[in-house]
Amino acid sequence: MTEELLLELELLREFGFTHLEIRGPRTADRGSRELLAELEQIVTVCEKCRLSQSRTQVVYGVGNPNADLMFIGEAPGRDEDIQGEPFVGRAGQLLTDIIKAMKLTRDDVYIANVIKCRPPENRNPELDELESCRPYIRRQIEIIQPRVIVTLGRFALQSLTEKSHAIAAVRGQWLDYNGIKVLPTYHPAYLLRNPAAKKEVWADMKKVMAELER
Ligand code: URA
Repeated sequence: MTEELLLELELLREFGFTHLEIRGPRTADRGSRELLAELEQIVTVCEKCRLSQSRTQVVYGVGNPNADLMFIGEAPGRDEDIQGEPFVGRAGQLLTDIIKAMKLTRDDVYIANVIKCRPPENRNPELDELESCRPYIRRQIEIIQPRVIVTLGRFALQSLTEKSHAIAAVRGQWLDYNGIKVLPTYHPAYLLRNPAAKKEVWADMKKVMAELER
């Protein structure tokens, strides 16, 4: 035990502390998993906005409860609404390919949306829907405590920052969310329509990989 640690313990005793709990990584893992599951029970029955009326099911989020890297998208589409899992349709396949190209799997990272229920006809989320759903993504981030968040498209970033951004202007620039590094990039659905933009997204993912290796 180092001298500094002994001094620190001495100080804590002087302040009246008598017990010290040491948590290993397995306990921490169980903690996040359980906290995410608890939150999921709340989100699953959410009726805070009109999207609860038309959804098939809530799409909560999947992946590693202690992920270093979190991908945050907009809202479930048709496939996600049916399967209950984010990014499983065509845009999802592209996101999965991006994750694989980063030498990771979907199980290594955590994937969620800022809106948990499908907007009818995949329309853009309304401001009040973003606001109703915002506490859920905030809490997911708080539980997972990733080192890096990649926001996909305009609405994911807008929900975190509570500001509207032109995605082309902020893409690829590091931002901060409560001490967590955030890298905004294009949404995979945009890449399906504009494949030329894939190289910019790949440049962004290289920044993310470099940051995670630090
Ligand atoms: N687009 C998103 O933003 N999220 C999904 O889960 C699927 C498509």
